[in-house]
Amino acid sequence: PFFKEHNADIFPDTVKLLAKLNANENPYGPSPKAIEAFKNTAHMGNRYAWKELFDLMEKIAVQEKVTAKNIMMGPGSSDLLEKTAMVLFANGGNVVSADPSYMSLIKVAEACGASWKPVPLKKDWSHDLKAMEAAIDNDTKLVYICNPNNPTGSMTDHAELIDFCSRVSEKVTVFIDEAYLGFLEDAEKKSMVSLINQGKDVIIARTFSKIHGMAGLRLGYIVAQETTLDKIQKITRGGMGISYPTIFAASVSMDDVAFQNKSRKLNAECREYVYTTLKQMGYSYVPSSTSFILFPIEMEGKAFLEKMTALQVGVRAFDIMGKNWCRVSMGTMDEMKLFSNALQKVLV
Ligand code: PLP
Repeated sequence: PFFKEHNADIFPDTVKLLAKLNANENPYGPSPKAIEAFKNTAHMGNRYAWKELFDLMEKIAVQEKVTAKNIMMGPGSSDLLEKTAMVLFANGGNVVSADPSYMSLIKVAEACGASWKPVPLKKDWSHDLKAMEAAIDNDTKLVYICNPNNPTGSMTDHAELIDFCSRVSEKVTVFIDEAYLGFLEDAEKKSMVSLINQGKDVIIARTFSKIHGMAGLRLGYIVAQETTLDKIQKITRGGMGISYPTIFAASVSMDDVAFQNKSRKLNAECREYVYTTLKQMGYSYVPSSTSFILFPIEMEGKAFLEKMTALQVGVRAFDIMGKNWCRVSMGTMDEMKLFSNALQKVLV
């Protein structure tokens, strides 16, 4: 592997941080209407939410223009990334994905006995689709693509990705993780979900953790061919980890477009503020399509994290291609100002 994370095991105590910018959480959520719905349904917590979950799946299916049979729900998309990996790699094989990218599915695949075939991102931080296609061999069970990508925040061209998924999925299942897609102005147009109705063997992962600000309420889903979902759900059921009130909070949040628009707008304002701060300090950055920004730092990652944490600002640090990088999540503007002040103290 080309990239690794510094001190990935140390999560600073949340309450001790003045600016918690280390987990790509939405600082504005959940939507007040979703909180109200959660409170109003908490008393139903003695019941299993079978029908209620099915109703939500129908609603999601309408939004995604597929049928409920194309949807599998989970308590967060992590659950579904991991379950997919457990089922597909039960007998080994290999997984092709970018380096750096989001590692949750890859790590589980490796733990099941599969090997990871990392393909470096291109110089413009987009996926090297040609090299990824060339990396596929007879043992490849899955290609994982995170778009926009984490930890880089970068996008891969929509038309090229559609073309790649259409062609490659004839040979091997393609998994597209769209956790951060909601931060784009034209998210719906950039999704790969339209490939489902064309019969393509793709799996698209979505989460309520990011644009909906529900990371702690836990809800996500995948959209895939019914046959693919049958294979996964034969071994591990989809909805059993989801709490009753979360289902109602999510349903209300889907309708609260104003909240999503607000999150997207404030997130974009914070990105501009951080770009300006970094430019003024003479630092470069990877232009972001997400709720976080990756930029190179001239300091060893662990020492950098310790200094930022001492100033009560939580961020993440990575070693990518032999260089040190900081990944900062977009918090509120006040948090970004604390981050900016801390950065100027630490990196002088
Ligand atoms: N996929 C990506 C790219 C992520 O960054 C994350 C979380 O940060 C997830 C999936 C998992 O999120 P959740 O389990 O909250 O849906």
